Formats: sequence, C-alpha cells, structure tokens
Amino acid sequence: MVFFRSKLRLAIASSTPYFQRGFSTSRIVSKSAIVTGAGQGIGKAIALRLARDGFDICVNDLEANSTKVNSVVAEVQSLGRKAVAAYADISKLPQVEAMVNASVDGLGPLDVIVANAGITKVQWGMDVQESDLQRLFEVNFYGVLYSDQVAAKQFIRQGSGGKIINAASLVAFRPLLMIPIYSATKAAVRSLTQSLAMELAKHKITVNAYAPGVVDTPMWEQGDEEMSAINGLPKGQNFKDTVSLITLGRTSVPEDVAKMVSFLASADSDYVTGQTMLVDGGMAFS
Ligand code: NAD
Repeated sequence: MVFFRSKLRLAIASSTPYFQRGFSTSRIVSKSAIVTGAGQGIGKAIALRLARDGFDICVNDLEANSTKVNSVVAEVQSLGRKAVAAYADISKLPQVEAMVNASVDGLGPLDVIVANAGITKVQWGMDVQESDLQRLFEVNFYGVLYSDQVAAKQFIRQGSGGKIINAASLVAFRPLLMIPIYSATKAAVRSLTQSLAMELAKHKITVNAYAPGVVDTPMWEQGDEEMSAINGLPKGQNFKDTVSLITLGRTSVPEDVAKMVSFLASADSDYVTGQTMLVDGGMAFS
C-alpha cells in the first residue's frame, strides 16, 4: 500500500464549491467518484462528465498511461473540481484497495465507483488459448468484482450508501462475431451486477451497469485492426460496417455513454438497481 500511495499524485484544485449530494440533506459535502480506466476513451469521457456534474474525481489507469491520466486530472481541475491520480491494475486486489484508499485520502468519502476499465481481444472461439481466457476474465470480470467489493466495503464503513456502476456491453445481450471470450466476460458482468444489487440493497448501495454498442475509442481502433488481420477488410472497414446493424444509423462517441453514467451516478437513479442499461443506438434488437 505504501508503494502505491507513494505513486499517488494529488492534484487539488484551489477553489471547490460545496453542494449537497443525493443521499443526504443533513450535511453539506462534496461528492467523489472513482473512474477506472479513465486515461482515455469512455472512462475519460465519464470522468469529465461527472466532474461537470459536480464530482471530485479519482482518475485510475495503468501507470503506463500516466501522461494521459495527468491530462485528465488537469481537465478535471480546469472544471473547478478536485482530482487524484491513482495508478492501479484493477485485476490485482491489493492495488484496487490502494486505489480506493488513495481516493478517500485525497477526496474524502466515496459516493460512486465506475468500474470501467476493460480489454478486448479479437479471435475465433476455436483459437482461444488459456492465457486469453485468463487475462480477459482477470481484467473484465475480476477487475470489476474487486472494484465493486472494495468500494462497497468503503460505502458500508461510511454508512453512506453509494452507487456502483459497471462496464458491460451490448455483447452481454447479443454476442458479436470474433469476440467470444470478451462477450462472455461482459455477460458475466451483467449477471454480477444483478447479484450484487440484491446483496447490497440493504446497505443503500445500488449496482447498475452500462452497455455501450460501438463506440469510437482506442479499443475499437485495436479491434478493427485485429479484425482486418483475420478477414482482410481494409483498416476502418469493420468499424464502418457496424452501422448497418445500428437502428439510429451511426456509431457512438464516448460522450453518448457518459450521459447514461451521469444518470446512474445521480439521485435521479435512486430507484434503479440491478440494471444493465443499453446505450447502443438500437443495436441489440436490430
Ligand atoms: P479503451 O481501451 O479505449 O480504454 C480502456 C482504458 O482502460 C485504457 O486507458 C486502459 O489503459 C485501461 N485499462 C486496461 N486494463 C486496465 C487494468 N488492468 N487496470 C486499470 N486500467 C486498465 O476502452 P474503451 O473503449 O474506452 O472501453 C471502456 C469500457 O467500455 C471497457 O470496459 C469496454 O469493454 C467497454 N465497452 C467499450 C465499447 C466500445 O465500443 N469501445 C463497447 C462496449 C463496452
């Protein structure tokens, strides 16, 4: 823990207005949220959206992404909120514990965790190796479980309730070709979200997930390249071809997803739990 705390970079904005949070009207406090995998893509958009909503943000990612994390921290600060960078590989429980401690040390009581970090790998089911299974489940499932567990323990210690928001995917409802194990990890996240919602309700903790469709992020850039290597389509074509499956006729941007997470992090979703909310432009049923 000492090791990780020593790496914690505190970046605290000078003026921080206070306002009430959703769960209590009896005390005036600032709200805080941890967003994992927030150095780029959907996680970055969520961090910035929640900062606009009034949250102080713990920005998590792998240390290898520190330049991007620093820039997200600076953007959160420029929005007038506090920001803490906490490097952790969320597939390792002790690192997740250090991340939550770092957030509480830097930002105070925790209100929301967004377990967003995830990885993908394009491959045929027949070619899957044990190492693929292991890493995809370690990050996409164990990482979400560890984030949820450690945050929930913090919420229970605080006696405050809280909101847990997990990254699932359209493929938790409808798998897509060439990502069989990734799809299975996301179906597992959807199931876990329901189980933890039942288990944690008595502590006034809600547990929900978001299920993006096709979002223009570095993850899709990598996926598109890996698909091209398998099916020979030109770079970018696999991404473009998904449009024919999307009812609204366009792929999405990270901000489309951040809007849903903003709702799930707000008091407006207090009576919503165990749900995996599709943000897919109408792809799951098309
Ligand atoms: P991305 O690859 O662009 O960003 C993911 C971030 O997570 C990266 O900054 C990466 O460094 C970080 N990360 C990876 N492993 C980590 C670990 N072990 N510990 C901490 N951080 C780690 O991905 P994205 O497209 O922004 O996706 C974000 C989430 O949304 C993922 O869970 C993904 O599965 C899910 N999702 C994405 C799409 C899409 O179309 N892009 C669709 C559905 C679901």
